[in-house]
Amino acid sequence: MEEKKYIIIEEKCVGCGSCVMACEGGTELKEDGKAKVISSAKLEECGGEELCPYGAIEEENGISDEERAD
Ligand code: SF4
Repeated sequence: MEEKKYIIIEEKCVGCGSCVMACEGGTELKEDGKAKVISSAKLEECGGEELCPYGAIEEENGISDEERAD
C-alpha cells in the first residue's frame, strides 16, 4: 500500500486544535496558531482528512496544482 502524505491547508485551518487532541503525534499547533503535520502515518491511522471539521487536512496527492492556486 502506498503511503499517504497529508498537508494542512493554512487558509482553512482555524487553529481549533481538535486534530491535535484527537490524534496525538499526528499534528501539532505552530506558534502562529495553525496546525502542522508531524506524522502522516499517524494521521492516516487516526482517519486523515476526517479529523478536521474545517476541511483543512488534505491528502497531498489529492489536490492538483490548479486547485491549489485558487
Ligand atoms: S482540526 Fe483542522 S482547523 Fe482545527 S487545528 Fe486541526 S487542521 Fe486546524
